Amino acid sequence: EAPLLEVKNLETAFSIDGTYYNAVDNVSFTVKPRQIVGIVGESGCGKSVMSLSIMKLLPKGIGKIKSGEILFNGVHLEQMNDKDINKIRGKDVAMIFQEPMTSLNPVFSIGFQLQEVLFNHMNISKKEARLKSIALLKSVGISRPEKIVDEYPHQLSGGMRQRVMIAIAIACQPKLLIADEPTTALDVTVQAQILELLKEIQQVNDMSVILITHDLGVVAEMCDDVIVMYAGKIVERTDVDTLFHDPKHPYTKLLMGSIPKMDEDVEVLSSIKGIVPSLKNMPKLGCKFAARCPEAMPECLSITPQLAETDEGHEVSCLLYETSKPREGVQA
Ligand code: SF4
Ligand code: MG
Repeated sequence: EAPLLEVKNLETAFSIDGTYYNAVDNVSFTVKPRQIVGIVGESGCGKSVMSLSIMKLLPKGIGKIKSGEILFNGVHLEQMNDKDINKIRGKDVAMIFQEPMTSLNPVFSIGFQLQEVLFNHMNISKKEARLKSIALLKSVGISRPEKIVDEYPHQLSGGMRQRVMIAIAIACQPKLLIADEPTTALDVTVQAQILELLKEIQQVNDMSVILITHDLGVVAEMCDDVIVMYAGKIVERTDVDTLFHDPKHPYTKLLMGSIPKMDEDVEVLSSIKGIVPSLKNMPKLGCKFAARCPEAMPECLSITPQLAETDEGHEVSCLLYETSKPREGVQA
């Protein structure tokens, strides 16, 4: 089956004091129809920049796609002008963000904001739009949608607001939904409900989903394939079962160790020591994870690992799995 989305050798750069640095560095992946692909990594790994690149929502004058291709149904998004991308955004490709970042406008009613996206992409009457809004609210599990449609964002709980955001996102039945940390700001129970809802909608609407998260627990629940990103690069990619049974990259293994257990306090989570290098301080040579990697070898500072298949359908970017490279500095 032809992929719905194909990202090829994407490089997205951000300007800091007039110099451009790659926040997404030569990333390639595909999303098939009806597939849920998880993109996982800590904040600062380039996950959100990736989604903003796909949607062409990079901050103007600061972020830009330097090279690469983004094909949606075979159409080059990266070459589109604002007018053309506006026809696709919200209609064929939609996006939801973390709750506090949602674009719900406090001064407009829920119904108004739902109808706005309907009027943008559909030729329907006011009455039809109102009925459709109510139906959409119902479809995302909002009870008494006839009442909620006239309420304002502040009258709703965080979980309800996220349901409204999902209703807006699926209003035009997009083929691809990009969900960037959609449940991060919600408490655990509500988080589970929203994920459940997303999965249900994905199946009913035959939609593909890119689910961006720092939480491998969410990935395990939701995804078919997983991409692990570190410092703007893909470090591991495979299907979700393989990732959990046979994680290979040292970063992935550490992320596994930081999955919250139900009976554990978040405080005692084993987090990964150190931080993701900032764009300005990105090591030019060697592995970008070297400074934090418990398995680092001397050559990790000088040889840049390449993403390569270790088993069928399992790609890793780590010198531990590269056999063709010379291994200077390693004792036999
Ligand atoms: Fe660790 Fe070296 Fe592999 Fe990088 S290449 S993840 S530093 S072992
Ligand atoms: Mg982010």
